[in-house]
Amino acid sequence: MLKWAELIEREALALTVLGVRDNGTEFSMAFKAEAGSAAATIRYYGEAIDKLYGEIAPTADTHLGLIHREPVGVVGAIVPWNFPLMIGAWKLGPAIAAGNSVVLKPAETASLSLLRLAELALEAGLPKGVLNVVTGRGQVAGEALALSMDVDVLVFTGSGGVGRRLLEYSARSNLKRVYLELGGKSPSIVFDDAKDIAQAAKVTVNGMFRNSGQVCVACTRLLVQRGVHDEFVAELAKQAAALKVGDPLDQTSQIGAINSLRQLEQSLGFVETAQKEGASLYRGGNRILEETGGYYMEPTIFTGVGATDTLAQKEVFGPVLAVTPFEDEAEAVAIANGTEYGLSSGVWTSDLSRAHRMIRAVRAGVVHVNTYGGSDLTVPLGGVRQSGNGHDKSLHAFDKYLDLKTAWIQL
Ligand code: NAD
Repeated sequence: MLKWAELIEREALALTVLGVRDNGTEFSMAFKAEAGSAAATIRYYGEAIDKLYGEIAPTADTHLGLIHREPVGVVGAIVPWNFPLMIGAWKLGPAIAAGNSVVLKPAETASLSLLRLAELALEAGLPKGVLNVVTGRGQVAGEALALSMDVDVLVFTGSGGVGRRLLEYSARSNLKRVYLELGGKSPSIVFDDAKDIAQAAKVTVNGMFRNSGQVCVACTRLLVQRGVHDEFVAELAKQAAALKVGDPLDQTSQIGAINSLRQLEQSLGFVETAQKEGASLYRGGNRILEETGGYYMEPTIFTGVGATDTLAQKEVFGPVLAVTPFEDEAEAVAIANGTEYGLSSGVWTSDLSRAHRMIRAVRAGVVHVNTYGGSDLTVPLGGVRQSGNGHDKSLHAFDKYLDLKTAWIQL
């Protein structure tokens, strides 16, 4: 695995370009978030292999109770088109380090970089058959994998709709364990005691609009306390307007292309719905650079979005931000927790006690305080509620790929 990580680093540029041409993510983000992250992930789990071992239970003197950790066997992994290398590596790293074989199915619109990743694994000496990448449509290749009687654990990152189906496939086949990393409608909550409005707006714009908002943890709902609402939104719009949208392979582009026409149309559809439901289009809302033949959209901000409006409840997976004002902490918590999701969240405040109260009160797998989008391999990422039931990254990810086996020995 260490050799594999080395090879990924060696080919980082080519791998990134391959992925960017496939899925449209801006190179300026993908280089680090895709190839860089994949190499670091494979290395991290390679180094972790000999840090995992069993336990001796404190049983009565007459018996010895041993707890072994065993590989589950065959892991099926189904991943989405946004960040295929990063998300793929988050599954492959712990699954392979734990001693399993993996069959991985990439998304239809982003298979190339993962196919190359698998070739590099062979080159690094991973035994043939340990990592298999099977491309194809979700309803064909994905369904076959999920229904297979030979797959012991299924790990998935993608939409809630497909996640539901996977649970059904498991029930209809061999009751394989299914771990889901799903979507979100993550709130970023700005209190009027936030220390640095300009910095908060800058971080929020990046947390929301990079990769055209096609990020599961994007802070797609901005809740702003009334005292700073107008100032914050104006600053946000200024920062959003300054982002350069364009050719994903141009290193100066801060936002690349939307993955497919379907995704673009979906985002434009949300703009229409939000307007119909009475929200105010503060900036953006349009397809741009159409003459290039690419799918680009302006960073879009809606204000006055009601907490139960479609734009506040449904995942867009595009560059459309919903801004909702609030009065006090209780209302902020109620709005923040008022969706079916619970992936990520952010709190901007200079009140330490409030920060701790919010960490407890917000129902999400991740709470950021005075930052957004923090990322490190040592820290787990996962959601609660309908955002999923498993964690990628960190040593905790191993739990998905290992079975516990108990041995009793009479002394
Ligand atoms: P998607 O659910 O449509 O597809 C994901 C994968 O599932 C693809 O490989 C697809 O081919 C496959 N698939 C589709 N139908 C299938 C079926 N019937 N059986 C088996 N497999 C099937 O999602 P997407 O559009 O590729 O990705 C966007 C979604 O992923 C968003 O909802 C986003 O929030 C989510 N996402 C979540 C995370 C996270 O960590 N929580 C990260 C990235 C993306």
